[in-house]
Amino acid sequence: MRFAPLLLLSTALFAQIPTPESVLGHKVGEDFYLASYDESLGYFQKLAASTDKLKLVKVGKTTQGRDWYIAIISSPKNLADFEKYRETARRLALVRGLNDAEAHALAHTGKVIVHIDGGLHATEVAGAQHTIQLAYNLVSGTTPEINHILDNVILLLWFCINPDGQNMVAHWYKQNLGTEFEVSNMPGLWQEYIGHDNNRDGYMNNMVESQVITKAELEYYPQVFYNHHQTAPFPARIWIPPFGDPISADAHPLMWRWVNKFGTSMAAYLDEHGMPGSMHRGRFDDWYPGFVDHVNNFRNTISFLTETALYRYATPHFYTIEDFPRDKQDLRTEVFYSSPWKGGWWRLGDAVQTMLLASMGVLDTAANYREDIEYTRYQAGKETIERFKKDPPYAYVIPHDQRDLPTAETLVQKLLIDGIEVHAASDRFTANGSTYAAGSWVVLMDQPFAALVKELFDVQKYPEFHSTGAPIAAAEGGGRGGGGGRGAAPASPAAPAPGAAAAGGRGGGRGAAGTGAAAPASLTQLPYDVTGWTLPMQMGVEVVAVSQPVADDTRKLLRKIDKLDSAPGKVEGSGPVFAFSHNSNAALKAVNDILDAGGSVSFDKSGSTIYATGRVAPILQKDSVDAKSLGETPAAAWPVKKPRVGIYEPWSGNIDEGWTRWIFEQFHFAFTRLRNPDVQAGHLRDQFDSIVIAEQGARQIMDGMQPGSVPGEYAGGIGESGADALRQFVTQGGTLITLGNASLFAIEQFNLPVTNAVAGLRPDQFFCSGTLLKTEIRDPNHPIVAGMPLDPTVMFERNVAFDTKPTFRGTILSSYPRDRNPLRSGYLLGPEHLQGKAAALDAAYGNGHVILIGFRTQWRAQSHGTYKFLFNAVYYNASMAPEPPAASGGRGGRGGRGGANSPEAQWKTQAEALKTELTALHSQNRAYFTARGPRAEDEGKKLESMLDAFQRDRIPQLDDLRAQVEDQAAARREITYSTQLKKLAADLRTKDFSTTSLEDLLDQYKLAVIP
Ligand SMILES: [Zn+2]
Repeated sequence: MRFAPLLLLSTALFAQIPTPESVLGHKVGEDFYLASYDESLGYFQKLAASTDKLKLVKVGKTTQGRDWYIAIISSPKNLADFEKYRETARRLALVRGLNDAEAHALAHTGKVIVHIDGGLHATEVAGAQHTIQLAYNLVSGTTPEINHILDNVILLLWFCINPDGQNMVAHWYKQNLGTEFEVSNMPGLWQEYIGHDNNRDGYMNNMVESQVITKAELEYYPQVFYNHHQTAPFPARIWIPPFGDPISADAHPLMWRWVNKFGTSMAAYLDEHGMPGSMHRGRFDDWYPGFVDHVNNFRNTISFLTETALYRYATPHFYTIEDFPRDKQDLRTEVFYSSPWKGGWWRLGDAVQTMLLASMGVLDTAANYREDIEYTRYQAGKETIERFKKDPPYAYVIPHDQRDLPTAETLVQKLLIDGIEVHAASDRFTANGSTYAAGSWVVLMDQPFAALVKELFDVQKYPEFHSTGAPIAAAEGGGRGGGGGRGAAPASPAAPAPGAAAAGGRGGGRGAAGTGAAAPASLTQLPYDVTGWTLPMQMGVEVVAVSQPVADDTRKLLRKIDKLDSAPGKVEGSGPVFAFSHNSNAALKAVNDILDAGGSVSFDKSGSTIYATGRVAPILQKDSVDAKSLGETPAAAWPVKKPRVGIYEPWSGNIDEGWTRWIFEQFHFAFTRLRNPDVQAGHLRDQFDSIVIAEQGARQIMDGMQPGSVPGEYAGGIGESGADALRQFVTQGGTLITLGNASLFAIEQFNLPVTNAVAGLRPDQFFCSGTLLKTEIRDPNHPIVAGMPLDPTVMFERNVAFDTKPTFRGTILSSYPRDRNPLRSGYLLGPEHLQGKAAALDAAYGNGHVILIGFRTQWRAQSHGTYKFLFNAVYYNASMAPEPPAASGGRGGRGGRGGANSPEAQWKTQAEALKTELTALHSQNRAYFTARGPRAEDEGKKLESMLDAFQRDRIPQLDDLRAQVEDQAAARREITYSTQLKKLAADLRTKDFSTTSLEDLLDQYKLAVIP
């Protein structure tokens, strides 16, 4: 009895630290349970109240306005001295004012600050669950290992870096649990605007979440940054650095050395703790600097991610060796995969356990090398400063005199958010022999984070790895990309089981038999994300690299700026008309504001001036638009109305659609989001002037998500009735704007006499995945290119270029140069396939217009330089259109309608031929689905290649013939037939028709009778 009080006391102390289960009602990683962000926060609050080893800090708000917290975890003593350690980390990161001895002394007494987060891709669910357990383990643990970590490390634990998404996905899963849709894709985007692209916004910081993370990086100065993801390359259980090549050229080499060291230590830690299946290198390269982790390497923070295996949500799955890719079925050990996983159950709890060990491996390594890591940040910063004192570029000048000054100001603001030192010149100065006006900005490169500036401003030269004869790595689909950067596909949480078609993979090639996509002959590794992003080119901002050291008397003219508020517009005179340039994007924001305020606006017919009347001066000032007063609006101007804009929003979660919404909000374009039923209901012209369809595949627009794969209301696309409604909309005078690959939808469904010039080319003939290209404006007076420079740089990401047929009515707005390679930054294979081809078109249709923009006009809200293609198109209407030239060719020359050689007759002959070919395809489908063992793979490959040829070459030939058919009713019937043909071809890849007769199949797909 005497001992009772003591026992009670110690029990009470332990009882004070709540287990996750005691608060959540579930164990972390339990099957079929996902904690939401709100639940997670609830637990962390209780945990914080129970201990002096953890405190919660509010770091900001999310896009949806949620309060956002992180946990700081360390020993009580370290937490009490947190400000001191943060100051030490800051001084080491910023370098200046320290010599090596002082830096060593600081590193000796400092603590290593480590960022670990639970991830930002919300369907990669285990990350945000594991942080709950990690916090509990660290706070309640008393082992020597944990004590060593808490004494040496200050952990910034972000329990999730996409709180909104964590809530959305947890809610979706809970709602479908136990139904046939338990593992179905969540409709829409799990970040308000950009879904999976939230890991592509690292340097641009467009999203609120990116800004919060970057701000914390610059307030807490972590030396290590670890970001959790799922999915690993199957059957690995976790992918861990070292990364695959190529890696960015500009990060300090010590970053890579330490990333590799952390990676191999983590894998060893996992093996030591009985968790096999770690894999390194392979397809995860580290070329694009916009990843939330990687951007920090350029600020000398050792930064990396891992990809743990994922089935779907919290639902377990059993894998056998037969599920493995054939080359992994022998379970052989490899240098970068030394403890192969042998299959079996994979549960959320396994993924959580893997992540816990990986995080502990990082903390253990950080604690063991604390002083070295702290000093490394100083050393990398110091050597960066020294490097740019010796080598060019010594500085970059952003002249104040720009064709679009507010966008140049945006670029400067982006640099400041990224922690880059920027100066403004108080007087005119000379650099590279040129004189620049006062107010110009200068980025001196002798600063610790200069590598980031070079990475963003330089031209990218993607390395051409010459083939070693080794297997070619396919970069499409899965993992870090999910959508492979294509934007169209949601990050699918699907297991990378054999036979899973790559989401959004273009043009097939990865169908049922799981064959890899062909790679360019000269590349052994396809780029994981884009290859070129040079910001000044994308934004259309002039930036000059300074190739001579910056003289002291020039430096004296420079004032460091901490923030930049856009300069108010200078408005001269008192009206009644104000004239301003169409050159800035801000001018169009002002147009929207003026129209909203009841003012009137018109666009110059043959120049780039905008005229406005009304109480517009304050608006122009606020929107940073300079204007001059005029007595009256010149006669040669188009009156502009406030456009009624619709944006098509598919349920599949279209990233580019989200970016478009975000940009429209920034520039004050009002819009309505159109779902499938809204489009299908028709009468669109009564409600809208312009409708935008963002980057996505034609088939996705028509068919959407497969019925049966998601609850009924989310299945399907706009279908025939939707396409009909859009045709009617344009016929009645509406403007349809299709972006990127969505242009193929317009070509197909509107029977436009236009073809995709790069259709059917193999990746070893033409490859352009995220590359900046030069284009030329063809008709500078066309309203859609008003305010554009004559040679805009465009982002091309596996997109389309156009050939127009003789019957084309409309205008070629811009094209790729005919006589030279259009490449400006990144990688382009087969430039000749683009040269001379149209990049953007205005196609007349009925009384309206279809605007086809073949490239990525507003890519990730980075390509400000080409926003105007989209903005101008939104205002564009039939009254502004140049008189379309009469169709040349066509009529008469080919023997006239109905004759034996008429386009209609030719189409019928071709359709008969294709129908005959279906016999062979059907029998190959039977051969594949009835084969077993290795033969199945051979038959599958054969089926693949037959279908590739059929879909890529044969059906387009049929469509080409149709495009010349003049009878619109006949053409409509032919479109329907062709659409059915495409459906059957696609289904022949994945569906087993071995027991269906060809006759039944033709009936079922309405292909029996050729119209
Ligand atoms: Zn991810």
